[in-house]
Amino acid sequence: MRIAIAGGGLGGLTLALILRKHGMDPVAYEREADRSARSQGGSLDLHPESGQRALAEAGLADRFRSTARPEGEEHRVLDPAGRTLVHHRPPPGSFDGRPEIDRRLLRDLLLDSLPDGTVAWGHRLVAVTPRPAGGFRLAFDGGGHADCDVLVGADGARSVVRSLLTDAPLFPVATLAELTISDADRRHPELAELVGPGNLWCVGAGRILAAQRLGDGSIRVGVTLPADAPADAPADGRRVDTKRALLDVFDGWNPGLTALIEAGDGPPTPRTIEAMPTGTRWTHRPGVTLLGDAAHLMPPVGEGANQAMLDAAELGEEIARNPDDPDAAIRAYEEAMFARILPIAEMSARVQSMMLSPTAADDLVRFFAPRPA
Ligand SMILES: Cc1cc2nc3c(=O)[nH]c(=O)nc-3n(C[C@H](O)[C@H](O)[C@H](O)COP(=O)(O)OP(=O)(O)OC[C@H]3O[C@@H](n4cnc5c(N)ncnc54)[C@H](O)[C@@H]3O)c2cc1C
Repeated sequence: MRIAIAGGGLGGLTLALILRKHGMDPVAYEREADRSARSQGGSLDLHPESGQRALAEAGLADRFRSTARPEGEEHRVLDPAGRTLVHHRPPPGSFDGRPEIDRRLLRDLLLDSLPDGTVAWGHRLVAVTPRPAGGFRLAFDGGGHADCDVLVGADGARSVVRSLLTDAPLFPVATLAELTISDADRRHPELAELVGPGNLWCVGAGRILAAQRLGDGSIRVGVTLPADAPADAPADGRRVDTKRALLDVFDGWNPGLTALIEAGDGPPTPRTIEAMPTGTRWTHRPGVTLLGDAAHLMPPVGEGANQAMLDAAELGEEIARNPDDPDAAIRAYEEAMFARILPIAEMSARVQSMMLSPTAADDLVRFFAPRPA
């Protein structure tokens, strides 16, 4: 059985690793030229029941423990004046919660465990056509082709494989502008102290100024605005692509907080954050399925990578259990995945709109308040 995985991101690589563990030989076709072609972004917290479970399934639990940063779980929520509304500190050295790991290190962990040739770099999938005898023919940018019996679309938010299964639209949920402050401890010790070892969210009506510590000593700063921001918080890409424009959005905020924008190494990089409709599902089609953002792109509130990796673990386990009948395996995976994702996608949409609401600060304090056991 020739299994092709479109995309060598966190979901695709986890699946490749788990299938190999079960004696299969998949190929992950990745559009990037090599592992360092593009910055992999910030840090992720891996949850025990999803991301960590998938890593354990892939045989990487110990390597995750030696690479992750449990202290990165610390987070604070501040109001625009800089007052602390919430401060969570994990018990020192504890791995019970959701330790943080830089995305780049996590991807390297997966890549380093795969033999050469499992990832076919520089293969941007541009079209998929069913073959008369079953399976699919993949066409790549530049003219190359490959055939497969089973195709897994792990090709992210703008998946090419998705169109074989659903025409669910993408819709904008927020505008994000990102900056990096490199070598923060030495160059900006006061900001390093403000952000601490984990995450900081400064929350005002309809706008968030967030900062995140990475393992390489840099700080990643992100400004989130509603996709349909009001006139005083312009959200279209052209107007949040300079530090000056961003500082205007946070006019009146404590200068100790907006210093995070001023300290950025270069101009902010704006992008639109999109999502698929909550509850998207499709009718099973033989030989093809989706996982991760290709299957269920959600607002980014801390679940996407975790669920992509769990999708991979569950799909890999189903195929390993049922190697002679991959369609039964795919069907079982899809039904379980649709049921698991629905409440998570609903929660993600709720949290995203809460974070950008006019009463975000109060809502977040309630959200983080300890609940009775
Ligand atoms: C700002 C932000 C913060 C986030 N924070 C978190 C967090 O804290 N925790 C969390 O769990 N999730 C987080 N997420 C969500 C998370 O990033 C995604 O859900 C996760 O990366 C999905 O994994 P994936 O493997 O499905 O897709 P991706 O990681 O996007 O991987 C897809 C891969 O496919 C490749 N590809 C794309 N198109 C093609 C093609 N045509 N041909 C070949 N290859 C292709 C891409 O190059 C990429 O390598 C965040 C998202 C954003 C935007």
